[in-house]
Amino acid sequence: MADISDPIADLMQELAGIRDVQSYVGGEFHRGLGEELALTDPASGTVFARFRDAGPEIVAAAAGAATAAQREWWAKTASERGRIMYEIGRQIRAHAASLAQLECLSSGRPIRDTGSEPARMAEMFEYYAGWCDKITGDVIPVPTTHLNYTRHEPIGVVAQITPWNAPLFTCCWQVAPALCAGNGIILKPSELTPLSSIVIGVLCEKAGVPRGLVNVITGAGPTSGQAMVDHPATGLVVFVGSAAAGSAIAARAALKPMPAVLELGGKSANIIFADADIDRAVIGAQAAIFASCGQSCVAGSRLLVQHSAHDEIVEKLAKASTRIPVGLPTDPETRIGPINNRAQWRKVDAMVQTAVAVGAKLVTGGAAPDALSGSGGFFYAPTVLDAVTPAMDIAREEVFGPVLSVLAFGDEEEAVHLANDTPYGLAGAVWTTDVARAHRVAAKVRAGTFWINSYKTINVMSPFGGFGRSGYGRSSGREALAAYTQTKSVWVETAEEPAIGFGYAPG
Ligand code: NAD
Repeated sequence: MADISDPIADLMQELAGIRDVQSYVGGEFHRGLGEELALTDPASGTVFARFRDAGPEIVAAAAGAATAAQREWWAKTASERGRIMYEIGRQIRAHAASLAQLECLSSGRPIRDTGSEPARMAEMFEYYAGWCDKITGDVIPVPTTHLNYTRHEPIGVVAQITPWNAPLFTCCWQVAPALCAGNGIILKPSELTPLSSIVIGVLCEKAGVPRGLVNVITGAGPTSGQAMVDHPATGLVVFVGSAAAGSAIAARAALKPMPAVLELGGKSANIIFADADIDRAVIGAQAAIFASCGQSCVAGSRLLVQHSAHDEIVEKLAKASTRIPVGLPTDPETRIGPINNRAQWRKVDAMVQTAVAVGAKLVTGGAAPDALSGSGGFFYAPTVLDAVTPAMDIAREEVFGPVLSVLAFGDEEEAVHLANDTPYGLAGAVWTTDVARAHRVAAKVRAGTFWINSYKTINVMSPFGGFGRSGYGRSSGREALAAYTQTKSVWVETAEEPAIGFGYAPG
């Protein structure tokens, strides 16, 4: 089995103390016992590491380690947990440059994006560090002689399963609130992008969490991931990924039964009215779909434009899209890097070709950029499709690539109807200078996140999650703590002569 090629091996050595891909369980590294898996460099298409799927035995060891460590973690004072979480943020900041490089090289995301990411990940731990000693219950004025109060207790051991499009982000996004609420963790990043999550597991322990509190499983979904969901110690599964896998996981969770949080895909509508600041809206539309090469759950993949502004918007978009630098993720000028993997490249291209075959008009893109077509990497030019109709697959299914579908509408009612003509409900936006219309549309579009004259801004302080097929439960903000805790109601009798109402005096 090949070790990771340089310089990724050097970065892993520096950040995690290993030079290959292993699961981090109970504070130690474990080689997988299952099938061989490979990591491919999205920028060149070459395999840079091979490793074995962890498998159920390593998952069981992680469950044992997390169970023991969680007791230790919960026995600490809330303030002590907060101090350790703050230290995790400091560790991430201290290793920011190497972490950004590792994420760029191993996932193909531009260094321009990954460079600023560790600071945002540190913020997640700092934000939830502040919550540790503020998770308080209520005293409820029950109509009896009791003192009744609530406690928000940890679930115990939680399974977290994350996708390949934003591995570092989705890892920290879920680890931080889970730790804050007092849980032990078994995290499985995508088998395509496990490296930065291994590092976070190691940094958490370096910061002072008990050994085995954060376990990182390197392996595949149907094997290692399923074993995590099925393990009796697991009390909650938080899944970030596709709608199909999410439904299957939630169905298995229901058999135990245990709760699930599902953060799934989207088909978000970005609505531009003719009264909008068109130049700003066109810039916003590019950020909405082309940032992260379109591999973003909140991507504004459906651009709804009012008829009277349609031609101007499409023309400006087409011109701007050809100017966005597509290139190697390591080049600081690159705005759009490669698609993460070959299967996804093929899916994106097939969806574009099918759309054109059924009548969509290819305005720009629709293939690998000429300059990069021989690179072996999974590059795809920013693509704009016009004359898309609501019935086309390209308007209904998540593409998860740099492909924008333009649909035209007449009035506000039609815009809202088109925006809601999807089973998904993750995000959306409206561009208009009419304040009342902006709020009307925000209220009517069914989506967990909505922007007005903006797109894509999210923050750990604000709740995030889907409506409909985009999932349920909330991540980020105070709401995430509700998902990671369970509420206990405690009744204390305070009467001198309690009236229990049933039973006999002993003896
Ligand atoms: P995916 O569903 O194929 O895989 C996601 C994770 O689930 C991986 O770790 C995979 O190994 C695991 N998995 C797959 N099948 C499993 C099973 N049966 N049991 C247990 N684990 C299993 O998704 P992907 O292709 O990696 O990611 C892309 C998807 O993620 C897109 O649909 C995107 O919209 C979504 N996503 C959603 C959010 C959000 O917050 N809503 C964020 C990022 C990505």
